Amino acid sequence: MTPVTTFKGRTVALFGLGGSGLATALALAAGGARVCAFDDAPARRAAAEAAGIAIVDLAEADWSDFAALVLSPGVPLTHPAPHWSVELAKAAGIEVIGDVELFCRERRAIAPDAPFLAITGTNGKSTTTALLAHILREAGFEVCMGGNIGTAILSLPPPSEERVHVVEVSSFQIDLTPSLDPTIGCLINITPDHLDRHGTLDAYAAIKERLVAGAGTALVGVDDALTNAIGKRLSEREGADVYPVSAAGERPWGFYADGPLIRARNAGERAEEALVLADLTGIETLRGRHNAQNAAFACAAAWLAGAPPEAIAAAAKTFPGLPHRMEIAGRRGRVSFVNDSKATNAQSTEVALSSYERVHIILGGKPKEGGIASLAPLFPRIAKAYLIGTAAQDFAATLGDRVPHEICGTLDVAVSRAAADAAASGRDEVVLFSPACASYDQFANFEERGERFKALVTAL
Ligand code: ADP
Repeated sequence: MTPVTTFKGRTVALFGLGGSGLATALALAAGGARVCAFDDAPARRAAAEAAGIAIVDLAEADWSDFAALVLSPGVPLTHPAPHWSVELAKAAGIEVIGDVELFCRERRAIAPDAPFLAITGTNGKSTTTALLAHILREAGFEVCMGGNIGTAILSLPPPSEERVHVVEVSSFQIDLTPSLDPTIGCLINITPDHLDRHGTLDAYAAIKERLVAGAGTALVGVDDALTNAIGKRLSEREGADVYPVSAAGERPWGFYADGPLIRARNAGERAEEALVLADLTGIETLRGRHNAQNAAFACAAAWLAGAPPEAIAAAAKTFPGLPHRMEIAGRRGRVSFVNDSKATNAQSTEVALSSYERVHIILGGKPKEGGIASLAPLFPRIAKAYLIGTAAQDFAATLGDRVPHEICGTLDVAVSRAAADAAASGRDEVVLFSPACASYDQFANFEERGERFKALVTAL
């Protein structure tokens, strides 16, 4: 745990006692703050109380006692409307911050030179963070990984020059971190997302920009218009230390994926002479252009953090990948089964489909707006589609007579039908479970859905 000493002796209001909220309350208490915590859910209040945290109904409290409101990232700060606790904090004139801000302040107070690598972007955050942590570990660094992935940031050991913190940061967390100052910041990409919580695309992009604007060294994607503009803007600042990162082939300088090779190129250097940080050929866990983008960021950050190129290249080969993201669930004869349950929208299914030449695909669940119409250019890659859940009829209509398909209803039927068809073809085949839908119509969440797929594959 990282005890938060910057509120020692003061009283702090805290709203939201989920996983990271409770961890934050404990870290504040361990650092000597008095914490008055609240959550709408009685079970969470009870769990916090059992852990020794004082529960105070913040709606009834005297806010003049509080030095700050510490908010969980899941609680609306601005949109669709500020949460009532935010309104009360504003009325009392106190700051509203989150756990990443507390970490940044603690780092500046106790170990300002401690390496702190932060990663954000609309897509690929977790993969990039996990890969970067893996590379640094393999290269011999002591690594603490967490934030929006796995362990809450304040549950990690305190920042120190002896260890590297590798932290995934969501837009909600950045919004609550006014003094975000990582040693290296990565902004992978920006596409429309979470607009219900940020109001407009510009507001969302401006929040993402803050992670790299405050970084000692900034790695900024150039493959989409929004991050490209951010990179240009930051480069024009005096003393800027900004590198472009791309997965779209050779560039005059910076870090990029050139086919399967991740390269670091100095301005003026010949392309063939540019340093090779990794070769992704045959690395199943880093398949696809999207993963080349993630790998370019992870390799670049690892190199800037001091990992030697040979160690980076070797570590990329042993990356175990993350569950539910194009995860190999098993093989039967010449058929591979791929669990991509994390694909809860068509954009995610699009990157998975782009990564394979021919698939038997299982689609469906609770559909998102637009369904799978955007996948039409990739329909020729689909040998056959197996449709489940609420979306089945709509998706069948979209596929029409362009793609062979079958309404299976449930995942178990879809797996057994797809497995039988793929095996019958007598060649190398892929059964891809990339539903392009939320899971809530038939499962608790995408993790449970992916586990079910893996169990069905094992049982075949
Ligand atoms: P995040 O943590 O940002 O949600 P993940 O690494 O967990 O990202 O990947 C989630 C999904 O996003 C993947 O299953 C894949 O469909 C898609 N994805 C991953 N990386 C990228 C990328 N660089 N660009 C576009 N889509 C991506």
